[in-house]
Formats: sequence, structure tokens, C-alpha cells
Amino acid sequence: MPGARAAPVSAELTAAERERILAKAALFTPPPATLPDGRRDLVGLSRAELEAEMAAIGEKPFRAKQLWHWIYHQGERDFARMTSIAGALRARLAERFVIGRPEVATEQTGRDGTRKWLLQWRDGQQVETVYIPDSDEDRGAVCISTQVGCTLSCRFCHTGTQRLVRNLGAAEIVGQFMAARDSYGEWPSPKDDVPRRLSTIVVMGMGEPLYNYEETAKALRIVMDGEGIGLSRRRITLSTSGVVPMMDRCGRELGVNLAVSLHAVTDDLRNEIVPLNRKYPIAALLDACRRYPGASNARRITFEYVMLRGVNDSEAEAHELVRLLRGIPAKVNLIPFNPWPGSPYRTSTYEQTARFAAIVNAAGYSSPIRRPRGRDILAACGQLKTESARGRPGAA
Ligand code: SAH
Ligand code: SF4
Repeated sequence: MPGARAAPVSAELTAAERERILAKAALFTPPPATLPDGRRDLVGLSRAELEAEMAAIGEKPFRAKQLWHWIYHQGERDFARMTSIAGALRARLAERFVIGRPEVATEQTGRDGTRKWLLQWRDGQQVETVYIPDSDEDRGAVCISTQVGCTLSCRFCHTGTQRLVRNLGAAEIVGQFMAARDSYGEWPSPKDDVPRRLSTIVVMGMGEPLYNYEETAKALRIVMDGEGIGLSRRRITLSTSGVVPMMDRCGRELGVNLAVSLHAVTDDLRNEIVPLNRKYPIAALLDACRRYPGASNARRITFEYVMLRGVNDSEAEAHELVRLLRGIPAKVNLIPFNPWPGSPYRTSTYEQTARFAAIVNAAGYSSPIRRPRGRDILAACGQLKTESARGRPGAA
């Protein structure tokens, strides 16, 4: 049929694909949350799991509620200071449990205030987490990683040159936000509309979150819980390179804002620069966006488009982008390509980026040009990479 679009991914196929993706994620599971001395880390447990831990030591469910408040609202790490709990029980908790944090291997602050932490886990693996302050106001975004490395190898991305070492666990994902909050001393967690420096989360660090869906979802549920960190789903944006079968689950179960790394308007080019496109081509990806729950003008899907000079930045491509997005409540983030050592591209000129933006804008889509942040400390989009290697924890 001339002009036919690729058939939408069928429901059965999607379910089978989802199973395959989840089974694969299980091969890269994080290490158990128990220390060599047998104490268990309470961070990263769901409320039900925390209640089960309390039941196992003969305590009622309300203890879990108290602990939740201490861990995620107060940011307390020492049982001895949990004054609403009787002394004897505090001691018993300290014998069996810990409230863990990643080890901060390095912390760097860039000239524009961007801060980057290299965080290390118990098995020696490392990831990077970044805080990007809003330049005009006292707030900002914590950019969180979900995997050590990435299985996908987008041509323009530094993380993509590092193999997937393993997935991060929920404790490690929520632990990145908690470590950032420690660094700024922003405990207890500010409530409701109280201004906060760490005001949003972008799941845009190392890795593909929808290839580590279960742990990412668990961590985000902890972050969204109103009795703890209490960041609403509207303050969280998850970025995917287009894992179509997992997008509907993400929308239905988490309802966070969605960002999609589009970067090209033809399958030929996208196959080359975002190789996942060979599995889930543009038409299937955009169909999944149309189905994404809650997508409306108030909650638009963000399309990320990295500006690569002479590769994807022509005016014709801007017009094609507008045509593709028709009918989707969308905004377009134009990201100047951030170079890294050995990277194969150059960033588009400012003039070309502005021409591209003007075309998208004229069609009614907001199309901000993202200002690169933290480039001097290699903390900008797509510059993150650690020395972690599979099978050689912490090896350089
Ligand atoms: N894996 C997810 C989330 C992490 S990447 C994803 O790909 O969406 C976050 C964003 O940074 C993505 O839009 C990604 O395409 C973009 N990015 C990667 N490398 C980049 C680079 N060198 N310069 C600018 N943006 C880059
Ligand atoms: Fe992985 Fe995203 Fe980088 Fe692609 S852009 S290699 S999906 S982290």
C-alpha cells in the first residue's frame, strides 16, 4: 500500500516483547542489598517490603510508617537519632539493618553551578549523577542514572561506548537522589509547594530506564510517596530512546512525564544513530506516544533532538519533524551535541539550530534550544561514562 505506515505493534507481540525485555533485565540484576555482616539495607524497599521486615522481627506495620518518615522525609541515617522510637528497639534495628547511601567517590562543581557525583556501590561499580540548577531561580533537576553502562549504542552518546555492566537496583536509583540531597543538606524533604533546590528529577543519566523498568518503577514509587520525598509525578521526567513495548506500562503505572529521544526523522538515519530504531521504527514509536496516557496540552511529550551538524539539522528535516508530530501534544527540546573525547560529530551552528527551531516553533510546538550545562566537568547530556567494566568491578 503506497504511503502506508508501519503496522502498529500488536497487543500480543507487545506482551511477548515485554516479557523478553523483563527476562533480559533479570540477567543484569544488582547485587543483594545485604552487607557482608548480614545487615540489610532498608533503602529501596517498597512499603510492603518494609512492613514485612518489621513483621519478621515481631513489630507492627506502624513501625514501617515511622521508619519511612525517618528515612525519606527526615533523611536520617542513624537509628540512634530516631527519637520517636524507643531506645531498645532502636538498638535492635541497628543490629539488623542499615540505611545505606552510595559512597561519593568524587564530587565536582562546574563553573555554571552544575554538580556531578561519581557514586560507588558496594560491588565497586560506579555511575554518575548530576544536579543542574536553574540559572535564574533557586531550584533545579537531579539527573539520575538507571544502569551502569548501556546496551544500546547511540552513535553520539558517550555512555553508549560503555557496555552494559549491570542494572541499578531501586536502592541505588533512589539513593542517587538522596546522596544529592545530602550534598545540599536539603533535609527534611520540603513539603507541597515549599521551594526546594532539588525540585525535579530527570531520568536521563546513564542507561535506558525502560530496559530496567521494574527497579526504576520501584524507585520512582518511593520518590513519589507523599510521606517521604514526595515529588509528584509531574516533577519527574523519564527519557527513553524508544522501548515501545514498555512505554504503555510506564504511562499506566507511573504516569510520569515522558521524553523521547527522537533525533532523526527518517528510519534510515535513525537506524544509524539510534540503533534501537531497527527494532522499533519511528512510526511504531510515535504510535506509542499517541497512546501515552495523560498526554495533553498541559502535559506534553518532550521530543529530544540532538543537533548534529550536517547530519540531521536541515530545514527540510525540521518540516518533516513537524509533519511527524502532527496530532501529538508535544514540545521539542533541541540539544546542541555535546562532544566527548573521540566523538564522531560536530554540533550544529547556532544559526542553523535557530532556523530549525523557528520552523518547529512556527508550527505551534515550543522548541527551546537547551543550553549545555556542566560541559567543563563532562556532566552535560550524553557525556557521562564511568570506568566500570563487566566482570572487573571498579577496574580502570
Ligand atoms: N537512555 C535514555 C536516557 C539517557 S540519555 C535516552 O536515550 O533517552 C539523555 C538524553 O541525552 C537523550 O536524549 C540522549 O539522546 C541525549 N544525548 C546522548 N548523547 C548526547 C550528546 N553527546 N550530546 C547531546 N545529547 C546527548
Ligand atoms: Fe543508551 Fe540513551 Fe546513550 Fe542511547 S542515548 S546509548 S539509550 S544512554
